[in-house]
Amino acid sequence: MERDYPLEKVRNIGIIAHIDAGKTTTTERVLFYTGVSHKIGEVHDGETTTDWMEQERERGITITSAAVTCFWTPTYADPKDKSKKHRFNIIDTPGHIDFTVEVKRSLRVLDGAVVVFDGVAGVEPQSETNWRYADEAKVPRVCLVNKLDRTGASFEHSFATILDRLSKKAVRMQIPIGLEEKHEGVIDLLRMKAYYFEGEMGNKVIEKDLSAEAGIPESLIEEAKKYHSELVEKIVETDEAMMTEYLEGIIPDMDVLKKTLRKAVIANEIFPVFAGSALKNKGIQLVLDAVVDYLPAPTDIPPIPGINPDTDEPLVRNASDSEPFAALAFKVATDPFVGQIIFFRVYSGSLMAGSYVYNPRTRNKERIGRILRMHANDREEVKQVFAGEIAAAVGLKDTITSDTICDENNPIELNRIVFPEPVIQLRIEPKTKADQEKMGMALNRLAQEDPTFKVTTDQETGETIIAGMGELHLEIIVDRMKREFTVEANVGKPQVAYRETITGNADAEGKYIKQSGGRGNYGHVKIKVKPMEMLTKEELEDLPKNTKRSPGFEFINTIKGGVIPQEYIAPCEKGFKEGLDRGILAGFKMVNVSVELWDGSYHEVDSNEMAFKIASSMAVQDACRRANPVILEPMMKVEVITPDKFMGDVTGNLSSKRGLIEGMEDRGMNKVIKAIVPLSEMFGYMTGLRSMTEGRAGFTMEFFRYDIVPNNVAETIIAARK
Ligand code: GDP
Repeated sequence: MERDYPLEKVRNIGIIAHIDAGKTTTTERVLFYTGVSHKIGEVHDGETTTDWMEQERERGITITSAAVTCFWTPTYADPKDKSKKHRFNIIDTPGHIDFTVEVKRSLRVLDGAVVVFDGVAGVEPQSETNWRYADEAKVPRVCLVNKLDRTGASFEHSFATILDRLSKKAVRMQIPIGLEEKHEGVIDLLRMKAYYFEGEMGNKVIEKDLSAEAGIPESLIEEAKKYHSELVEKIVETDEAMMTEYLEGIIPDMDVLKKTLRKAVIANEIFPVFAGSALKNKGIQLVLDAVVDYLPAPTDIPPIPGINPDTDEPLVRNASDSEPFAALAFKVATDPFVGQIIFFRVYSGSLMAGSYVYNPRTRNKERIGRILRMHANDREEVKQVFAGEIAAAVGLKDTITSDTICDENNPIELNRIVFPEPVIQLRIEPKTKADQEKMGMALNRLAQEDPTFKVTTDQETGETIIAGMGELHLEIIVDRMKREFTVEANVGKPQVAYRETITGNADAEGKYIKQSGGRGNYGHVKIKVKPMEMLTKEELEDLPKNTKRSPGFEFINTIKGGVIPQEYIAPCEKGFKEGLDRGILAGFKMVNVSVELWDGSYHEVDSNEMAFKIASSMAVQDACRRANPVILEPMMKVEVITPDKFMGDVTGNLSSKRGLIEGMEDRGMNKVIKAIVPLSEMFGYMTGLRSMTEGRAGFTMEFFRYDIVPNNVAETIIAARK
C-alpha cells in the first residue's frame, strides 16, 4: 500500500499554553476550520472535543494528551488544489503544572508547537516553564497572542513580555487591527496585507490592501511599514549571503523570504509571533497557514537516536517509509468505545494492522489488532500507518508509555522519555471487600497510563500507597478510580514522599545460614556501601563492565574466583534493592547508594537464591545504618506573583516556611518572588496566600531537587513514623 500523504505534507504539532490562555478554544477553532468539528463548543458549556474526560470538563482543564488528526489547505492556496492539502496531527498538552509530564511526553513526539498567550497577561509563569521544556527539546515554535478582544488586551505588552522573559528571537509577524471590542483583524507584516474574518464563525478570510481606500488608518499603515522592515531584516540576518546582498540594497522576493524564515524557525533561530482572538474567530486560519509554512515536517527534523537492544550500539532511524519499522508509544489511554489504546508515533518504516511488533523492553512480540486515527469526534480505522504519522493501536497489552515498538528483525530501542519521580503520596484503603479487588486492578491500569503515578505497598502495614506529582494529580486519580472503575475508597491526607540516603561509607557482612533438618539455607555476603557519585554523561557511558546503574542505585560486582557463584549474583542485587527500599531511619526508600559486593561464601548443597537475597538485604541495611543515614525532602521552586503592598508579608511567610528567597523582580504592576521551599511546608499554601493578600496573589511551584532535612525536622518525621 502507498502512503496517502507525502511526508513533507505532514505536521505533528502541539498547542502549548498557560492554563486559561485559550488553548482549548484555539484547538476548537482549529478543528472547526479544518472541517472536522461541525459545531463550535464553548469551554464553559463543557462541549469541547479534545477534553473527553469528565473531570476535565468539570474542572475546565485538559489533562490527557489526545492526538487528533485534521487537514488544512492554506488560505492563500486554491482550496481545490489537492497538492496543497496538509495533514496535521495535533497533540494536546495541558497547562497545569501538576501535569508537566504530559507536556514533556508530547514535546517528545511532536515536531513543532503553537504557543498561545493571553493578550492581557502576556507571559505567565507556566508559559515560562513550558517554554523551557520546549527549549530543552529544541522544538520549533510559533506564538499566538490570543484574547486581543479582551478589556486591557495589548499585543505590544504581550510581545514585550515574550521578548523579555522567553526569547530575544521573537519577531512580530503581525500586528492587530484594533484592540479590545474594536479588535477586527490583523495585518500580515510579511505580505503587507490586512486580513478580516467574516461570516458567523469568521470562516471567510478577507484580504485587503494596506491603503486608506481599504479603510486602514494611516497610523496603522505607518506602523506596519516600520515592523515590515524590522521583520525582513531579522529574516535576512539568518542567512549570510542574503545579508550581503541586502546591504547592497537587494531585497529578496516573498518566496525566498518565506523559505529563509522557514529554515530559521526550524533551526530555532526565530520565533514568529501572531495576533488574534480565538473566541471572536480572528486570526486562527493564518496561524494554521504558519504551521504549514514555518513548522517542520517529519523530514525536517534530525534522525531519531536509539540503541541496538542486543549490543547497546548507538543507532539512528530516518523519517522514511523504506527503513525498518520503529515507533514510540507515548500515551496509554482508555477510550470509551474501544477500551485501552496506545498512542504511538512512527519514526521509520510502516506498520500494518494485524501484524506483530517487538518490544525491546519486554523482549516480547505483541500483535497489533486495529490501528485507529483519532479525529475530533470519530475514529477512522486504517490498514497501515507510515513514517512520521501518529496513530493509536488496539490490542497491545504489555506496552507502556515510553516503550519502543519495532520490527523484530531490526530491533532498536529509542531513547526513553525521562519522567520526574513522584513527590507526594497518600494512603488509600478500599471501602469494602468487593472494592479491594477492583482497586488493585484500577490502580495498575492508571499507573500504566501515567508514568508519574506510582503504586506501592507499605511493607509493615500492608496498606496501599499511591504517589504522584501534586495534590491535584492524586485527587484526579482517585476521582477517576471512582468513576471509571466504580471503586470506593477512603483516602488519607497527602504526605510528602521523603527519601533516605547515606552520607558516609561502611562495610558489613550478611549471613543467612539455617540448618534445620533436610536441606538448609546458606547465603553469605560481604559488602561496602558509599554515596553514589554523580557522573557526567560521558563518564556514565564509560562505566566499567562490573558496575551497573539504575536510578538511585549502583551495584558493583568485584567477586573473584567464584567465591559466590554467578547464579547467585542477581539474587544478591535484588536483596540489596529490597533492603534499600525498606529504608533505615523512617522507612522511606533509600536512594543514591552504591553497593559493592566483594566477598562471601557458599555451600554446595544448602545455598539457594533466597538465602543470598536475604543475606544481602540484611547486609545492606546493616551497612547503611552505620553510614550516617539522613532523610531527604523534596524542595520546590516556588514563584509568587503579588501586588507590591503585600510583598513583605509574602516573603516573611515564605522565610518562616524554611524557604530560601532567590530573587524578586517587577512584573507590570506586580512583584514576583522566587523561592526554594520544602514541599512539606507548601500544603494548603493557596488558602494562606489568598487570605494574606486579599485574594490578589497567585503562585506556581514545581519540583526542584531533594535536600537533606535539618535535624529537628528529621526527628519529627521519624517520630511520626513510629
Ligand atoms: P485553556 O485553559 O488554555 O484551555 O483556555 P480555554 O480555551 O479554556 O479558555 C479559558 C477562558 O478564556 C474561557 O472562558 C474561554 O472562553 C476564554 N477565551 C479563550 N480565548 C479567548 C479569546 O480569544 N478572547 C476572550 N475574550 N476569551 C477567550
